[in-house]
Amino acid sequence: MGHRVTLIPGDGIGPEVTNAARVVADATGVSLDWEVVDAGERAIAQTGSPLPEEVLRSVKRNRIALKGPITTPIGSGFRSVNVALRQQLDLFASVRPARAIAGEGTRYPETNLIVVREATEGLYSGVEHWVDRDHSAAESVAIVTRKASDRIIRFAFDLARRQHRHHVTAVHKANIMKTTGGLFQTAFQAIAPQYPDIRSDERLIDNMCMQLAKKPEEYDVIVTTNLFGDILSDLCAGLAGGLGVAPGALYGDELAVFEPVHGSAPKYAGQDKADPVAEVLCLELLLRHLGENEAADRVFRAVWETIAEKKVVTYDLALPGYTDRPVAPSSCSAMAKEIARKVPIVDPSAPLPRPEGTGSGHDPHLEA
Ligand code: NAD
Repeated sequence: MGHRVTLIPGDGIGPEVTNAARVVADATGVSLDWEVVDAGERAIAQTGSPLPEEVLRSVKRNRIALKGPITTPIGSGFRSVNVALRQQLDLFASVRPARAIAGEGTRYPETNLIVVREATEGLYSGVEHWVDRDHSAAESVAIVTRKASDRIIRFAFDLARRQHRHHVTAVHKANIMKTTGGLFQTAFQAIAPQYPDIRSDERLIDNMCMQLAKKPEEYDVIVTTNLFGDILSDLCAGLAGGLGVAPGALYGDELAVFEPVHGSAPKYAGQDKADPVAEVLCLELLLRHLGENEAADRVFRAVWETIAEKKVVTYDLALPGYTDRPVAPSSCSAMAKEIARKVPIVDPSAPLPRPEGTGSGHDPHLEA
């Protein structure tokens, strides 16, 4: 019997990149039975609500979903569908691996770390209001609980163990935010000794940003609160090659939703131009979650080889990288087709090919 999976195409480039992931999924031979539901702009047009009940029901029923990005109006308009989905389904752990692929599109070809972000509370709790009638002052409340902090910190250590990683770093700002940051720090200090096989340390968020820009290879698993995790995961995506190649996963106790780090990139919507890799790597994570490890290995390998070859890649990967000349950019659908073509023929057990010269840390652009 096939796996029934909820598919939320989303807005902007969402339908294009989720379609690309479906093309690759078909090539794996794994039977995935997609239940397509709309959230965001298309849902408003159809039902008047950006997050119809049917979306929540579908994810609860199938317990697994592949999601495209959803637009959130800035400043006014409806609340973020993404934040609402995480809170209503209690998807408390946002896991964002940042791994440089084939050394392309990055100044840090050795980057390989994971940001684990608490996804239900903190400054994204949605508790904010105007202080006065003139709207000249505003307040936002950061809610941090011991329960949610313990849960995400344990999740990060357990994930480190499962993935044979050796180092977990807690990121906070407990020197200034003494109660919210302090609570998260205290929870980390209580739990870390229960994992003596894993090295643990702490960084203040500002120092962490500097450390990551200088030597990302020294970090392995980072665990942090909601806003810091959101910012750090974009930073780490940049280190690993850009938003176009950064996948993500949201986990609750029972449910899992896979979505890229990137947003709906409205300026590229409908142009068949966006990089499909982030969404395709979400598919890889989804297949692993379903226990389809061989198919997941094939997808990852096909992505790696397509990027390493640099023949059929989208605009963001077609630029001159560290090692290479620029090439003519391909479309989103052409790159997806190329990855899909490779899926059945790659050998996941062979050493990963790298473009010549990667791994040296040599950056011609910095010298220019
Ligand atoms: P964005 O990630 O959509 O785009 C930022 C820039 O990154 C783009 O202009 C583009 O240059 C690049 N980019 C992003 N995805 C790419 C891809 N697949 N291929 C190539 N280049 C890519 O961020 P934004 O412009 O800040 O946000 C746009 C909208 O998306 C907003 O409404 C925001 O709220 C929403 N958003 C949604 C999610 C989500 O659904 N989880 C996440 C982030 C942002």
